Amino acid sequence: MEELRPLVMCGPSGIGKTTLKNMLVEKYKGSFGFSVSHTTRKPRVGEVDGEDYHFVSKEKILKMIEDGQFVEYAHVHKNIYGTSIEAVRSVMKQNKICILDIDIQGVKTILNGPAHNELKPYYLFVQPRNFADLEARLRKRQTDTEEQINIRVQTAKTEISASKDMPFDKFLTNDKLEDAYEEYETFMLKRYPMLGGCNKNKNISQIRTLGLSIAFLYFGFKAFS
Ligand code: ADP
Ligand code: 5GP
Repeated sequence: MEELRPLVMCGPSGIGKTTLKNMLVEKYKGSFGFSVSHTTRKPRVGEVDGEDYHFVSKEKILKMIEDGQFVEYAHVHKNIYGTSIEAVRSVMKQNKICILDIDIQGVKTILNGPAHNELKPYYLFVQPRNFADLEARLRKRQTDTEEQINIRVQTAKTEISASKDMPFDKFLTNDKLEDAYEEYETFMLKRYPMLGGCNKNKNISQIRTLGLSIAFLYFGFKAFS
């Protein structure tokens, strides 16, 4: 069976990548898996080790990098983040579409390295309508200090300008969430036509269940009347 091509999602911190991918995963249950990255950053409230990230020490990640265990890694916002080969393979082995949420340096590494031909990912860049909106979202999320927010906004400016010269398959502006989600889903359905089948099957089974329930009620009612 041919392996499913992964999706690389990139875009400034706070732009809504997690929000958009969670909406998609919720709708197409069982079709996606996340590549769980390693990071030296501290967990935020509510983040779970092994689910949101593998939270590790600097020594540990440097050793793993030295041992060649990463597809890519980068220094982002004063921390190290990396995608292990195992993180991607474990999702692909389950025959799920693997979503990588990585920064622009990581995307460059993948584009210029063996993973681009081996994994053949699609590349999506999520961008804000403007920087004021992005800053407002970082504040609304209430997960970062003032200093971290400033670093993230500065990094966003560099990322957005670098993205313009890169071969992303799609640039998605996340302004109104519903519109952005619709555009995102349309892109995904084009790239992964089997997703259409997932929901078609789900709809058919829902219609079948509804039909059976109506028949059951009708005959039940007739039997007792
Ligand atoms: P990322 O994963 O890119 O860092 P998040 O998905 O965590 O970003 O989103 C950051 C914050 O912005 C969250 O509080 C989220 O609810 C909010 N958000 C996401 N998309 C929108 C949108 N289109 N309009 C307003 N707020 C949004
Ligand atoms: P956050 O700290 O907000 O979770 O993530 C900060 C940034 O790090 C985001 O741009 C996110 O895409 C990026 N990031 C998360 N995991 C990885 C990774 O494994 N590799 C790279 N290069 N960037 C990552």
